[in-house]
Amino acid sequence: MAKIIVLIGAPGAGKGTQARLLEERRGIPQISTGDMFREMKKADTPLAREVQATMAAGELISDELTFQIVKDRTKRETGTYILDGYPRTAVQAEQLEALASEQNRTIQTIEVDLPKEELTKRLTGRRSCSICGEIYNIYSKPPKKDNVCDFHPEMQLKHRADDNEESVSTRLAIYDELTKPLLDYYEKTKRLEKVNGEGDLEAIYRAIVKLI
Ligand code: AMP
Repeated sequence: MAKIIVLIGAPGAGKGTQARLLEERRGIPQISTGDMFREMKKADTPLAREVQATMAAGELISDELTFQIVKDRTKRETGTYILDGYPRTAVQAEQLEALASEQNRTIQTIEVDLPKEELTKRLTGRRSCSICGEIYNIYSKPPKKDNVCDFHPEMQLKHRADDNEESVSTRLAIYDELTKPLLDYYEKTKRLEKVNGEGDLEAIYRAIVKLI
């Protein structure tokens, strides 16, 4: 039976990096609500402006809109796919249960766990390429040449607008309050696995692959 692999963890834990690796190397589609919202906010519409403001503040977009985009985006998938950054609230977890049963898929959640001090450092050091989305970190995964993408050397790397100190602290607080409780829920329903998000990217990748 096809699965929905949910990568869950605080902002900065490395979910996005790992999800991208799984897509690249294993061909499992990565669906990131954060990436979809970043794309969406580029438009010149009242909704896009609202998304932009909410994201810049580090707050969450409404459950309804988020579910709508997840539902639309996952419709075309025929096999297992990865959700990166969804669900983040109890309501979203419920909506996902309904979607999974409609799509005839089981849910497997994998927590990527990292201590708080490390999260802040990762977030403030994070840079990405706006052409291919490759994620770097000035501390732990620097590009070969200063501040340009390895694959698109013509492009200066970008620091995400919501990776500033104030939004980071809001995002971490929201994670603790709204998203962390989902871990108990998945644990109780025996669908939670955990990997240590510290250290070598490849080792974390191998630990995830073993579980899926
Ligand atoms: P991320 O790239 O996953 O850190 O997401 C960046 C931002 O997008 C978040 O801080 C939220 O503003 C928004 N976002 C992403 N996923 C969700 C979600 N599941 N529910 C609500 N807002 C989300």
